[in-house]
Amino acid sequence: ATPTALMVGTGRSARAGVLIKNGEVLEEVDRLTAVVFDKTGTITEGKPVVTDIVAENEKEVLQLAASLEEASEHPLASAILAKAKAEKVTLLPTADFISYQGKGVCANISNKAVFVGNKHLVKEKALSEKLKESYDKLQEQGKTVVFVGEAKQVIGLIAIQDAPKKTSKEAIELLNKKGLKTVMLTGDAPKVAEAIAKEVGIKEVIAGVLPAEKAKYIEELKEHETVAFVGDGINDAPALTTADVGIAMGSGTDIAIESGGIVLMKNDLLGVVRALELSQKTFARIK
Ligand code: ADP
Ligand code: MG
Repeated sequence: ATPTALMVGTGRSARAGVLIKNGEVLEEVDRLTAVVFDKTGTITEGKPVVTDIVAENEKEVLQLAASLEEASEHPLASAILAKAKAEKVTLLPTADFISYQGKGVCANISNKAVFVGNKHLVKEKALSEKLKESYDKLQEQGKTVVFVGEAKQVIGLIAIQDAPKKTSKEAIELLNKKGLKTVMLTGDAPKVAEAIAKEVGIKEVIAGVLPAEKAKYIEELKEHETVAFVGDGINDAPALTTADVGIAMGSGTDIAIESGGIVLMKNDLLGVVRALELSQKTFARIK
């Protein structure tokens, strides 16, 4: 590869909002056989909205959850806070806040332990038949469901919807057509992940993955494939650096952007297709 051809390649891609850090990255892109996607903020908008609250006392559940989430930076936290604001719910003071990556958050409110999070946090805690039913139904609709609990009891569910970006389906279908393996790798629950995957045309789903396990999965896949990982979050940085090509969303966290060899400034998965086509053109020309 001649440096001039590479520079032309990367310059043209920059105009399409695809920043490629150097020529070696572009050469790796030319060899890709698999693309692995994070879900939240990558395939989806990352702008989740609360759609349902299931509880005996919905207002109380929203108040407790929002009071905890005020200290969290997770996209789900913003959704819960926005809902609380819209409903004019006053937030309660919390103490001893703890955030468990990929699981949820806990704190004390009026000396009671309150938590908001997924089933990793509530494993042994009892769930009523009614809540269990709602949990399944909401997840099948592609909604992320978090449990809200107080003193080890689950007292309600909050369902949050995060729609796929408009271009995700088109981009993934183009990658499928080019013969690349497309995979979703997410911390969210299997049912939700599968519903979203189906919407955008991804056939392989690895769900319920803790942040630390994302890089491990990429490592395994690399034994048989040349792998790109596309992500946006703080949690995604290890997977971005482990992949043969790390592709970060421009809207992502600073650490994700630093970890990526490619940055998609338009936050649009069609950028992955652009990068592929560009590498094909570049290396076809200079061969
Ligand atoms: P993704 O891989 O889709 O980007 P994350 O690893 O960031 O997702 O989070 C995985 C799951 O952990 C969420 O779907 C949610 O169930 C739970 N979770 C993480 N942080 C929070 C929080 N602040 N409040 C409630 N639930 C949370
Ligand atoms: Mg994410």
